[in-house]
Amino acid sequence: MNAPVETTAEAAALATDFRFAFLCSTAGHYRLVRDGHESLNDGFDAVVRLHDAWFALDPECTVCGLAPCQSPTFCNSCRKADYRRGRR
Ligand SMILES: [Zn+2]
Repeated sequence: MNAPVETTAEAAALATDFRFAFLCSTAGHYRLVRDGHESLNDGFDAVVRLHDAWFALDPECTVCGLAPCQSPTFCNSCRKADYRRGRR
């Protein structure tokens, strides 16, 4: 018998949480470096750039260009959509 696939509220929240997207990206760079497809310098720099763009205090928003961002909910939605597009 096939059990139905369950989608918990926690799993759904993780799928749309930009922090989860950040962890996925970090894990991806880890695997690329571990398997020799990316240099440690390039992988680390990519993670630092992503961190700075998403989490730095009052950074210039990479979506609207304002510091601080004037529409964080909208801009985070745009980042999530861009992330999802990049994952295809
Ligand atoms: Zn913004």
